[in-house]
Amino acid sequence: MLCPFCSTHETKVIDSRLVAEGQQVRRRRECASCKERFTTFEGAELVMPRVIKRDGSREPFNEDKLRAGLQRALEKRPVSTEHIERCILSIKSTLRATGERELQSNYLGNLIMDALKSLDQVAYVRFASVYRSFQDIKEFGEEIAKLNEPE
Ligand SMILES: [Zn+2]
Repeated sequence: MLCPFCSTHETKVIDSRLVAEGQQVRRRRECASCKERFTTFEGAELVMPRVIKRDGSREPFNEDKLRAGLQRALEKRPVSTEHIERCILSIKSTLRATGERELQSNYLGNLIMDALKSLDQVAYVRFASVYRSFQDIKEFGEEIAKLNEPE
């Protein structure tokens, strides 16, 4: 790695740690020539896109939050932890596969709804009712009615 101060090739790593929930390595380097220190961030090529919230703010994709949301929707439902984990993996790989650096939160919300729909319909309706904040009971009923229609 080139020293940004004197362009010497020889720099050594003096500290290395995982940051951004393990998706990046932060390295402190020291130039062998001018002794200046600098920091580099090395990310895997498959960094999760950031989520653009409805108010326009951005936040890092949060796997724990996704898991908590799924668990809340699937509370007391006959769905195994393994299925939930598989669902999380599949959502993550779909997000990565977009190749986008940022995605609207409703894209993520729709992925979750699709996943729940095939996992457990009760959980799907629970999640959808919170996520979409149905305006009234009629809208809620329509969503449930749609579940019974053949695809
Ligand atoms: Zn240097």
